Formats: sequence, structure tokens, C-alpha cells
Amino acid sequence: MPCPTCGIATGKVHGYYRRRLADSPAGGAPVVLELVLRRLVCSNLNCARQTFNEQVPGLAERYARRTPLLATLVGAAAVALAGRAGSALLAAAGVLLSRTAVLGALMALPSP
Ligand SMILES: [Zn+2]
Repeated sequence: MPCPTCGIATGKVHGYYRRRLADSPAGGAPVVLELVLRRLVCSNLNCARQTFNEQVPGLAERYARRTPLLATLVGAAAVALAGRAGSALLAAAGVLLSRTAVLGALMALPSP
């Protein structure tokens, strides 16, 4: 895994951390993925970053609290219905989000 600052690959493990991601619902029930990921040590002595978190491309973007599939679902509901109605539609599908969280997802989308 390459260091995000200097780009030099390393496999030296500093420790582990848990990360929870909301995923799309299964059978109408909310799904939370609990991942155990590595915190790695940068092997470049001149790098400003000493350690960094392992990322899972395609499953978890940096700082994301939702999987890309759920983020797409929430974003589509937010664009179509916005706050309260989007929250109601998502609740019927098993995604429990407040109207302000749906509006936050709408505001986080890139401009067309
Ligand atoms: Zn580095």
C-alpha cells in the first residue's frame, strides 16, 4: 500500500483500527460493515507522514461513512426528493437517515 504523501509502498504494520461503514439494506434491515484495517508506517525517513490508514478502494473512500452503493442510493433519493420526502423514501427501503442527513448528502454531491 503506497503512502498517500510520498507514494512509496510499505507493508510495515503500526497497528490495527476498526472502521464501521453503513451499507445498503438487506431484506429491509440496515447493514453495517465492521472492518479491521491496518495503520501502516511509511518507510521513507524523509516523509512528513509517519503513519497512515489503509484504504479499501471500491468499498470505502477516505473519510466516508457509507459504502459507494449506499452513497449512490442516498444521493439519488436526495436529488429526487430532497429532505423530508427523501428521508421517508429511504426509511421505507431500510435506510434510516434524518432529513438533515439527506440534505447533507445532497449538498455533498458535485455540481452537474
Ligand atoms: Zn510517506
